[in-house]
Amino acid sequence: MPLLDKFAKYPLLFGPSPISKFDNLSKALGKKVNIFAKREDRNSGLAFAGNKLRKFEYIVPDILAGDYTHIVSIGGIQSNQTLMTVATACKIGLKAVTVQENWVPIPEAEKATYDKVGNIEASRIMGGDVRLVPDGFDIGLRKSFQDAIDDLKAQGFKPYPVPAGCSEHKYGGLGFVGFVDELIEQEKQLGVKFDKVVVCCVTGSSAAGIISGMAQYGREKDVIAIDASFTPEKTKEQTLRIVNNTNKLLGLDKTIDDFQLDTRFAHPCYGLPNEGTIEAIKFVGRTEGVLTDPVYEGKSIQGLIQLVKEGAFEEGSNVLYVHLGGASALSAYSSYFK
Ligand SMILES: *Cc1c(COP(=O)(O)O)cnc(C)c1O
Repeated sequence: MPLLDKFAKYPLLFGPSPISKFDNLSKALGKKVNIFAKREDRNSGLAFAGNKLRKFEYIVPDILAGDYTHIVSIGGIQSNQTLMTVATACKIGLKAVTVQENWVPIPEAEKATYDKVGNIEASRIMGGDVRLVPDGFDIGLRKSFQDAIDDLKAQGFKPYPVPAGCSEHKYGGLGFVGFVDELIEQEKQLGVKFDKVVVCCVTGSSAAGIISGMAQYGREKDVIAIDASFTPEKTKEQTLRIVNNTNKLLGLDKTIDDFQLDTRFAHPCYGLPNEGTIEAIKFVGRTEGVLTDPVYEGKSIQGLIQLVKEGAFEEGSNVLYVHLGGASALSAYSSYFK
């Protein structure tokens, strides 16, 4: 029985997320490796889908167990976390308050539309109480977040706090343990073993869940995380903490001291692409017809492409790219693609 089975789960996904073969990309990179992608960007029918919903599946039962009125969460202005908080709240019949901080130095050319299009537009359509706050980027717990909670309590409501990226929530790592259990089944169905798994990492619980999940099978060293936070020490420390908390929750007697976090692709800062990011986004778009965003997945696919080019993977190996979602923010970055 999978270790995860003892935890309550509220279904928000279609089922196991599909795996696509990126044959064109593999070929364009010299056929040195076989690239596959597990599609968290297509994992659900809620809003624009994505990794946060997988995490919410193990948080919602805890919300429903209390008589909460609101889910409160936090992110940047184009946050996927806050968008998926609103969608989840709609689905379970609660209200959402989302604190949207100034995490990104918005380029001049995007200033007129950045807080109106893409994810924040979708949140507003679904009735999210979107609160714009001028504070800067930090993946930790924030004052603005506590203020929103205190404000709701003062009005007699009962808010349920979900931290940035769901990550520091006690169950934040469980969703992506389930991702690995799915993956193991899909390996059997496809007759393929994925030698390496490449995943974007910022608040940490996606990568952490995958590392914990893989640790169940002795394969935790096969995970390569690509930093998109540009504060890699914080991201690494938080991710390791979530890994070890998750292992403990699962009853997995294993302490993880380190993991591979490639920090070369996060520049110039969280939320803005570098030249290579834009190139990678276009390259994957044009070879595979698949969209990635400038904040997260553009950077992780940039990392994957670079790793293939520099021969970091053994010839002939099967490399799984984890597509976590996020393309719904693209319209807030239109100046990069004129
Ligand atoms: C949140 C997010 C990430 C980062 O995942 P963490 O679990 O916060 O490390 C990566 N890609 C997309 C599209 C995201 O929404």
